[in-house]
Amino acid sequence: MSGADQAGQETAAALDPAHESPTPPRRHGTGYTAVGVDLGEWYLAVAAPAGREPDEALVVSGEEVREQYAALVGATHALEEATFDTTRGQSQLVAAVWESMQAEISDGVEQVVEYARQFPTPLLVLEDLYYSEVALWEQRTSRELGAWLLPAFREALVVRANEVGLPVANVDPKGSTQQCHVCSEAGEVREKTLLCTTPDCPVEEVCRDRSAALTIAQRAIGE
Ligand SMILES: [Zn+2]
Repeated sequence: MSGADQAGQETAAALDPAHESPTPPRRHGTGYTAVGVDLGEWYLAVAAPAGREPDEALVVSGEEVREQYAALVGATHALEEATFDTTRGQSQLVAAVWESMQAEISDGVEQVVEYARQFPTPLLVLEDLYYSEVALWEQRTSRELGAWLLPAFREALVVRANEVGLPVANVDPKGSTQQCHVCSEAGEVREKTLLCTTPDCPVEEVCRDRSAALTIAQRAIGE
């Protein structure tokens, strides 16, 4: 990711001490607080600092975006059944929906950036995933929102982080969804949860995306 790894200009000076938590989060070797971000469609983003509890994670709902997208797909199908040329109508529809989805993305990105900036010297940690670039126009009849949404969110997040001087690191995404954030063993993946089957691990069942955000954060500090 170009420019994504540059350390930011604003660090401790931008932090409000009132927002610091009583138990300090675990730091990166260079003094950063690693804040992992897991992206998806159900939850647009889940952000969590290494070493914290899943309940402390920030969760950005993807509900609004999913509804807008479903409306787009439904309306496009209706227009395609028309007996006249609806290309113009379809492009206007895509433009309108794109604009409102973009507003949702910007809002979610802002929440993640502000959440991360509460912590001392934050480092935003993303999975090193290379997405294909797909235009919303090409996705308008598809049921696969993620192909457009996830890269769009990721890109907007990196751009915003760079704007505010929040450094970004990329980590290996392999198995982050399967891995228990406490014992690091692969658990049983369910629809929205992860069941840790390691004897004596205190986790048992945890929200899959919250666990993934913690795992992503911990990968940046080598845990
Ligand atoms: Zn475990």
